[in-house]
Amino acid sequence: MPKTVNVKTKHEARKYSIEIRCGGLDGIGTWARTILGPDRKIAVVSNKRVFGLYGHRFSKSLAQAGFDTEVCMIGDGERFKDLKTFEKILDFLSKFNISRTDVVIGFGGGIVGDVAGFAASVHLRGVDYLSVPTTLLSMVDSSVGGKTGINTDLGKNRVGTFFQPKGVMIDPEVLATLSTREVTAGFCECIKQGAIAGRSLFKRTDFVLKTVRTHSIGELLQIKDFRDDFESFIAAQIAFKAKIVAVDEKEAVNNIGPRSRKVLNFGHTFAHALEKASGYRHLKHGEAVGYGIVFAAILSKKLGLLDGKVVNLLCDVVHRAGKLPLIHTFDKTDIFTALSHDKKKIGNSLQWVLLKDIGKPVIVPHSEVGDRLVRKTIEEFISAN
Ligand code: NAD
Ligand code: MG
Repeated sequence: MPKTVNVKTKHEARKYSIEIRCGGLDGIGTWARTILGPDRKIAVVSNKRVFGLYGHRFSKSLAQAGFDTEVCMIGDGERFKDLKTFEKILDFLSKFNISRTDVVIGFGGGIVGDVAGFAASVHLRGVDYLSVPTTLLSMVDSSVGGKTGINTDLGKNRVGTFFQPKGVMIDPEVLATLSTREVTAGFCECIKQGAIAGRSLFKRTDFVLKTVRTHSIGELLQIKDFRDDFESFIAAQIAFKAKIVAVDEKEAVNNIGPRSRKVLNFGHTFAHALEKASGYRHLKHGEAVGYGIVFAAILSKKLGLLDGKVVNLLCDVVHRAGKLPLIHTFDKTDIFTALSHDKKKIGNSLQWVLLKDIGKPVIVPHSEVGDRLVRKTIEEFISAN
């Protein structure tokens, strides 16, 4: 049974629905038609890997629904989430005469979504955007919240906009072709959301992980009961993020409450430092988040906020998500230096999202944690992993 999550924002006009439907790819045309109506041109932004696997079905469905489409193919990988790709898409939209009443669809993982959404948000000051995320991470995370953007020489996601799509379609069946590492990376973001949401989502995530451990997602998605459960699981993940985004759409600088958008950065302060210190090459973002979750839990325990049993529980669940690449050769000083350049710094203060319990995140300024404790924890953590 397909699931729908409605994403609300403060402005009625920016609300949209996310549909989660196994096999949804073949109905993409009808779905788009329902949202957009007739007579609209569609610019599809994708990459060779995703379009090579699913482009035929995707385009066929849009053509059957009467849409005139053209595809803009971008490079595959984080290094292509840059100004050059952004310009390439903008040129394409102009050449294909995408007017104010036309549409852009991002069809791919988070990279495609971020840069295609960004281009849609500024082409002619904004044209309608639909998103069809194809990785687990982009389904549960970047499909909600309207963040778009690109990386610059100064760091990740330095330039971008908040721009809500008109609709999102998720077909979990495409996960069958995702690499094991990408599946692990996606599950790490699911664990992060479970850890800050509460026992129910956390247990549910753990339950799915226990099942996925024994069989691949592709095999499991052929079983009807699993398909149903998995659609509900993705819907529950999305619903949690949507609830947060509804009250803190643009991550208000001064909002540091337990349900502010900032808590979604649980595990991310350390993750970003790991990614930066290794030149964004060694770890996938979600894998770095896996380490970041455990690091934040250990720090929380050291500060007397979190029980050791919960730290062990979080370690176990991250472990179940899959093998993370080793990091013991990383330079500890580089990691500490990278922390002080974190984009999420407010003024001069780095904020840590820590945990008092599952479902009880707390934002603590770095000044209260202290350089000494952080350095020592980095040293122990890197040596052990
Ligand atoms: P990605 O887009 O690079 O996709 C990972 C790899 O999987 C790519 O090689 C891609 O071609 C391939 N792929 C995608 N779908 C596939 C499928 N169904 N079958 C086989 N291969 C497939 O990576 P990602 O993890 O999806 O996204 C990471 C990006 O998302 C980062 O740049 C991150 O900053 C961004 N992000 C944005 C938000 C947001 O709110 N906007 C949230 C989280 C992450
Ligand atoms: Mg993330």
